[in-house]
Amino acid sequence: MNKPFLLAETKDTLQEKLLAAKFPVFRTKQVLEWLYKMRAREFAQMSNLPKDLRSWFSEQFTFGGEELVTITGSQDTTQKLLLRLTDGSLIETVILRAPAQNEETGFGRVTICVSSQVGCAYACRFCASGLAGYKRNLDAGEIIAQLMYVARHIEEKQTVASRDGQVPFDNIVFMGMGEPLANYENVNRAISIINAEWGFRFGARRITISTSGLVPQIEKLADEPVSFRLAVSLHGATNAVRDQIMPVNRRYPLEQLLPAIRHFAQKRKRMITLEYILIENVNDGLDQAKELVKIANDCHAHVNLIPYNTVEGLPWKRPNSMRQNAFLKVIEDAGVSVTIRREKGHDIAAACGQLRLKQINKEAAMA
Ligand code: SAH
Repeated sequence: MNKPFLLAETKDTLQEKLLAAKFPVFRTKQVLEWLYKMRAREFAQMSNLPKDLRSWFSEQFTFGGEELVTITGSQDTTQKLLLRLTDGSLIETVILRAPAQNEETGFGRVTICVSSQVGCAYACRFCASGLAGYKRNLDAGEIIAQLMYVARHIEEKQTVASRDGQVPFDNIVFMGMGEPLANYENVNRAISIINAEWGFRFGARRITISTSGLVPQIEKLADEPVSFRLAVSLHGATNAVRDQIMPVNRRYPLEQLLPAIRHFAQKRKRMITLEYILIENVNDGLDQAKELVKIANDCHAHVNLIPYNTVEGLPWKRPNSMRQNAFLKVIEDAGVSVTIRREKGHDIAAACGQLRLKQINKEAAMA
């Protein structure tokens, strides 16, 4: 049987296991400090733990098990990491850097985009992640391992002063490969570790879960104790358009999805984000913009427009800037809160799943 991931343990579960193995309670705190403050990558580093405890740990647990396969992009803007997991599965994690705004520290905002599954079962027609099919859910430890890997990676390269033991990023978005709400328990557990005082101590408001629109899970989410943000990939403002590009809409059409979003927003008392990719001649007509205004008003939501990033092997295209602006103007003129993603570095970040696809094809060709 595979050993559990140490990075999936919470303070309580770890304490329970240590006590059951007759180790003293205070070891829990020490181990968690090694992980989340010192970012230890192996048990041997934990020098203030007795040898018998360290060997017990290596018998009982594995770390996240992630190994870097490739890294693309640039250190100043966006970097995409392809990681291999213990079972050989490939996942992608992205570091997005905004230009430095704070001249004193030299830091721009850093957002980490994590994967929640290996592949994806939802088969949105425009998305690269679904192309190689669905393999499995990520364990909570494998979600934390992505953040741990990235934290170490940034800290090793950092030329400016460190952030006082805080993680070197500002936002975490579950927008990598996979549908986070189809892996509810692991994502929820990972979020509680990210947020915990003994864990990454990372503010819930800076964590965003993005979903293709799983209605029962959105309803359940509204009751979770950690108040992270929710983004919904809408991409079509009518069932006719959404049906064409997102098969999930046949299961949970707008008349079910929109009430669930409203319920979430009311319960949490905060705005959710509607993501809307602009794809030429598919969903970028002004009639869709007008419908989108109605939905945004009705759900009291912010709209984030994302010009489509082309995916090798798929026919979809990004509309030219005139069409993008015309769509944006309808939303703006209606007084809806809206942003459009224009930063260059994002090209490499979106279309998640492409690196994995290339690597799978390359390895298949070599076999
Ligand atoms: N399954 C979740 C999260 C992963 S996708 C969801 O659907 O929200 C994260 C976001 O990237 C989604 O809004 C998705 O629709 C979008 N996306 C996927 N492929 C893209 C592409 N080629 N260009 C731009 N955005 C894309």
